[in-house]
Amino acid sequence: MIRQFELVETVRSYDPGADEDALNRAYVFAMIAHGSQTRASGDPYFSHPLEVAGILTRYKVDTATIVTALLHDTIEDTDVELETIDEQFGDEVAKLVDGVTKLTRIGFQSDQAKQAENFRKLVLAMSEDIRVLLVKLADRLHNMQTLHFIKKPEKRRRIAMETMDIYAPLAERIGMQEMKTELEDLAFGELSPDARKSILRRLDFLRERGEGMIDEIITEFQSLIRESGINAEIKGREKTPYSIWRKMQKNDVGFEQLSDIMAFRVIVGSVEECYQTLGIAHGAYPVVPGRFKDYISTPKHNAYRSLHTGVFGPHQQRVELQIRTREMHEVAEAGVAAHWNYKQGGTVKDGTQYRWLRELLDILEHAAGPEEFLEHTKLEMFSDQVFCFTPRGDLINLPTGATPVDFAYAVHSEVGDRCVGAKINGRMMPLRSQLRNGDQVEIVTSKAQTPSPTWERFVVTGKARSRIRRFVRLQEHEQYEKLGRSILHSAFADEGYDLTDKGLAGVLKVFKQSSVEELCAQVGAGLLTGREVFEAVYPGAKKKPWYDAIVPLAKARARRSKSTGKGDAISIKGLIPGMAMHMAGCCHPLPGDRIVGIVTTGKGVTIHTIDCDTLETFHDHPEKWLDVSWNEDLQSPDVHVGRVKISVANVPGALGELSTVIARNSGNISNLKITNRTTDFFDMLIDIEVKDVRHLTEVIAALRTSPAIHAIDRAKG
Ligand code: MN
Repeated sequence: MIRQFELVETVRSYDPGADEDALNRAYVFAMIAHGSQTRASGDPYFSHPLEVAGILTRYKVDTATIVTALLHDTIEDTDVELETIDEQFGDEVAKLVDGVTKLTRIGFQSDQAKQAENFRKLVLAMSEDIRVLLVKLADRLHNMQTLHFIKKPEKRRRIAMETMDIYAPLAERIGMQEMKTELEDLAFGELSPDARKSILRRLDFLRERGEGMIDEIITEFQSLIRESGINAEIKGREKTPYSIWRKMQKNDVGFEQLSDIMAFRVIVGSVEECYQTLGIAHGAYPVVPGRFKDYISTPKHNAYRSLHTGVFGPHQQRVELQIRTREMHEVAEAGVAAHWNYKQGGTVKDGTQYRWLRELLDILEHAAGPEEFLEHTKLEMFSDQVFCFTPRGDLINLPTGATPVDFAYAVHSEVGDRCVGAKINGRMMPLRSQLRNGDQVEIVTSKAQTPSPTWERFVVTGKARSRIRRFVRLQEHEQYEKLGRSILHSAFADEGYDLTDKGLAGVLKVFKQSSVEELCAQVGAGLLTGREVFEAVYPGAKKKPWYDAIVPLAKARARRSKSTGKGDAISIKGLIPGMAMHMAGCCHPLPGDRIVGIVTTGKGVTIHTIDCDTLETFHDHPEKWLDVSWNEDLQSPDVHVGRVKISVANVPGALGELSTVIARNSGNISNLKITNRTTDFFDMLIDIEVKDVRHLTEVIAALRTSPAIHAIDRAKG
């Protein structure tokens, strides 16, 4: 624990004008206020605000900030009133302490559902005075340093996640690179201790191996630069385990491939020398393409400035260089806090030099309420992430563009699988809506719901995507199997045979299938026809092209029906008795259709519908046309096969819906062929057994009412 005089001395060392009296009074005030309170470590509680103040001296902050650090927990954790602080330390400190207290109370995982209000408070507290955030970050850093004293693992984990999700990005946003790195690394140690340990071991190993080389590279660079009369300080830069971990995850690379472990900082005197140094490096070594970045002419959003480049240095070793001035270096490490060195007491304290903060403030000023504020804000500070909340107030952190489905899967896989709708901030919203920062999301679930492949088009998280895919594959398979079984059933029945699993099991090898279910699924998916399977099971049957099988199929039906023995030709008027006749496979005429007969040498008459495209072929041969019509006097019990072209949404249940609707309308699928398949739709040809054209029209009309069916028409030619 730092002692009172040490703290005062440290502050005075960088700020000779520091208010020594205020520092001493704050020290004593906090010590008395916290009295005999202790921390989880067993240390007196007062050690905590003191350490927080100590951390802040590293950033050379002003007296008011140090005083605030010392007092930061007195309102929340002791009997001290804000007025007392106001009286004893003045308005400035009172406002700062109040800001930190408010920030503490926001609690990102609070039980309240008032997260919109909380975000507003967070932004307000930060923007009124950026020093509030400095104290809060230092507070969090010390809490992370002492995290291991907390006994409950869930609590440690929650704090670590909050640090990773909120405080480290905040530190990054205001340019406090060192703070960010420390917070992240501590959180990483809690969240993935094993990964961190193994990375540290590897780092140690590499460091030992490369020790001589690092010195060699530094020496070589030094002399190169010195030749040009530039005085440079070169440092090997240590990467943190977490930054390596992140890179490994992002790029999917192993430790060995992480070439830029060799990284160096070159600190020079002026901007001009930065560019000169860059020129020297590029002149002496081959440049690694794509690594050069000029953050001096275009600083990062958090005011970071530097030149970055990569070269193949001594021993062909890939080396990363960051070239910057002393001032740039301090800003890079300390961010907003660094400004106190150069602009003591300037306008920087309110944080408004940050464009993103300014924009938020502007919106805040003009928005009617917190909801509207959130609606208009794209909380830019986490530009690649959105923070949303469950109704219980738990924070769910998602990548930008995430939808309620991503949210649902992030909460729990089951919740994702069963989600049917989402209330965003209390309003029912489509599942494809993009979530925004601060949204409170309530997922509506149903036991009957299953994941839909259409979700795959808008989800952004890997977890959601993989769950949806897996499910859809499984389901598709089940549906194909069911459909295939019914097609086989009718194919066998039409020949007067019963479909048995035993019969199918006997031909598995023929079709290279591993199970009867697989075989059925192949038929359902249109990869095998019912006829092919039938012929394999009963090899005696004649092999016929797929379309031709349909007419005899109708014949077979007619044969089985006892009410007529007259066959099919009878129902057509205008034919010479005894003339061979068959229905065209291209248009599948049905009783009720206007029809035309085409005389084909050696084949008899082929019946087409009057609008069949095939008829064009016979345009120049009027002698072949034969005027025919259906014999409507005959109540034919025959079934006929009509063919439809259909486009079905590629969603689970669509195929099931299709066969249900057809069956409900007394139709019967006799064959099915998928002609085109995209992620969105299936295009298929379906043969449906019906009585006549009116029957088919009814079936088509019924199918049109189904939302899963995109388009349906009779096939013509
Ligand atoms: Mn604290």
